[in-house]
Amino acid sequence: MLIKANDPKRKSWLKVEKGCDFPIQNIPFGVFITKDDIITIGTRIGEYAIDLGAFHQLGYFDDVPLTDDMFMQDSLNDFISDGRKTWRLVRNKIAEVFDAENPRLRDNEKHKEIIIFNLEEVEMLLPISVGDYTDFYSSKEHATNVGVMFRGKDNALMPNWLHMPIGYHGRSSSVVVSGTPIRRPYGQSIPKGEETPVFGPTKSLDMEVETAFITTDANNLGEPISIDEAREYIFGMVLLNDWSARDIQKWEYAPLGPFLGKNFASTISPWIVTMDALEPFRCESPKQDLTPLSYLNQKTTNNSFDIKLRATLETENGDINELCKTNFKYLYWSMEQQLAHHSINGCNVRSGDMMGSGTISGPTKNSYGSMLELSWAGKEPITLKDGTTRVFFNDGDKVILKGYCKNDEVSIGFGKCIGKILPAVKPK
Ligand code: MN
Repeated sequence: MLIKANDPKRKSWLKVEKGCDFPIQNIPFGVFITKDDIITIGTRIGEYAIDLGAFHQLGYFDDVPLTDDMFMQDSLNDFISDGRKTWRLVRNKIAEVFDAENPRLRDNEKHKEIIIFNLEEVEMLLPISVGDYTDFYSSKEHATNVGVMFRGKDNALMPNWLHMPIGYHGRSSSVVVSGTPIRRPYGQSIPKGEETPVFGPTKSLDMEVETAFITTDANNLGEPISIDEAREYIFGMVLLNDWSARDIQKWEYAPLGPFLGKNFASTISPWIVTMDALEPFRCESPKQDLTPLSYLNQKTTNNSFDIKLRATLETENGDINELCKTNFKYLYWSMEQQLAHHSINGCNVRSGDMMGSGTISGPTKNSYGSMLELSWAGKEPITLKDGTTRVFFNDGDKVILKGYCKNDEVSIGFGKCIGKILPAVKPK
C-alpha cells in the first residue's frame, strides 16, 4: 500500500511555519488532555493539535475500518496493536482531509471548532502505556569512549560487543513525558579511594541522548522474531533522555548492571513519529566490523535513518548552550537487529513496549551524547555562556533534546524532549 501521506508536494490548509517539525508529511501520534479535561488520541499539524476521537466521531474516517472508540483512549496501545495496515490507512486519510485542496473539513467551521486546538490549549500526556522498557548500548563510539575512560584504550570494547546488541531491562513506571521535572535522586556512591559508601544526592546527574522505538504485538512467548520480519513490528520513534546518576551507577552496577542510577526517570518526547513518515530519510547503516551470527545478519544495508539530534542546556538566566550535535545514523546495531536479538530466546514483545537505542555518540568530540563523554569524566569541564562550568548538571538546569530529518523536499521532526532538574529532597 502506497504511503500517500508522505507526498512531499502536499500542503495543508492549516498554517505551517517554514522549518516546523510537523508539516502535513509528518502526522505523528500522541495523547493530550484538552482544557475541558477530555483525554484523546491526536495528531499535530503546525502549531495545531487535532483531536482524532472527535475527527472519527464526526465521520472523517468513513472508509477506514476502525472500532468506534479507537481514539477515545488515554494511550496509543490499542491503535498500535491494530498493525501497519491501519496505521497507514489512518495517516493517509488524515493527509487527505487536511490537504489544502480538500474543502470537506476546511470549510466546516463548526467541525473545525470541535476537532482543532491551538497547541497551547492542550497538555501532552505520555503517548503509550509502556509495558516494558529495554535500553540497548548500540553506539560503538559511546561504548568505546566509556570503555577507554574506565578500562583503558586496549580493552575499550568488551569481547561480546561486536557480536550482539548489548542491552538491559529498564523500568517502565518512571518513563515520563517531556516537561516533567526531574528530581535529583539520592543514593549510595563510593568516594574515590574509599572502601565504604556514602549516602547523598547524586553528584553526577547526566543525560543520555537517545531515541527509542515503539513496538506492536510481535510474537508469542517462545517464538523469536526473525531479522527479516522485525521491521514490520516497529510503529514509530520518539526522542529519549535516559537520565543517569553516574556515581550511583558506578558503585551498584557489578555484577547485574544498571539499577537505581537509571530508573529514577527517563523522559520521552510526546509525539510518536511513525516509521512510515521516516521512510524518506532511510540511509545506509555503518558497515559492521564482523559478520554477526546468522540470526542477526541483515540482507539489507540501508537499515538506518538520517535523524539529526541536538542537545542543549538552558540555564536559569535563559541562556541556551549547545551541548552536542549527533545523528541516529551513527548507531552500529540496527533496530531490526535489536528486536531480533531481544526475542531470539523466545522473549515476547508487545504493543507499547519501548526500546532505547543507547546513548548515541558520533565520531567527533561535539557529537558525544552524554556529559560523561563531553567532559571526559570530569577532566575537561564545559564552559557555559554565563561563565560557569559543568561536568554534570546543576539543579535548575533544563536539558532539551531535539531531533529532525531534512531532505531537499521536506523536513519533519520530533519536537522537543525537555526535563528541568529539581533539587534533591532528603528521604525521611
Ligand atoms: Mn541509556
